[in-house]
Amino acid sequence: MRRTLEARAGRRPKAIMSKSIFEKIIAREIPADIVFEDDSVLAFRDVNPKAPTHVLIVPKKPIPRLSEAGPEDEALLGHLLFQARAVAAKLGLNKSGYRLVINNGRDGGETVPHLHCHILGGRGLGWPPG
Ligand code: AMP
Repeated sequence: MRRTLEARAGRRPKAIMSKSIFEKIIAREIPADIVFEDDSVLAFRDVNPKAPTHVLIVPKKPIPRLSEAGPEDEALLGHLLFQARAVAAKLGLNKSGYRLVINNGRDGGETVPHLHCHILGGRGLGWPPG
């Protein structure tokens, strides 16, 4: 039954799915410059920063992207946003301002299939994004 549902959804069975790079960071299998952690989220500096301050905050639960979060993830998503705000404040961005970005899917520019919120600041950011 499980295989049939996964096949219909065009997904590989979980058993043969490899860990995303962010899961490896969460598991401390690869290094990252971690700025905040609690039981359910981890925040670390982006390896290829697009602004003077560029931090990613991710849920430890491996939700591939926002569009695949379920109703059971509602509190976790609220917590992610709440802690993104706290991390931005901790990094000194409150006065100058900052932007939170979630890229979802191909047209959204998502490159890592593990839900993450970008925290960007330290310079004026253009709008609309290019
Ligand atoms: P997105 O394009 O929204 O999926 O964002 C993925 C982000 O992850 C990009 O900004 C990358 O620079 C960043 N990234 C990829 N690998 C790492 C890594 N090992 N450590 C920190 N950031 C990473």
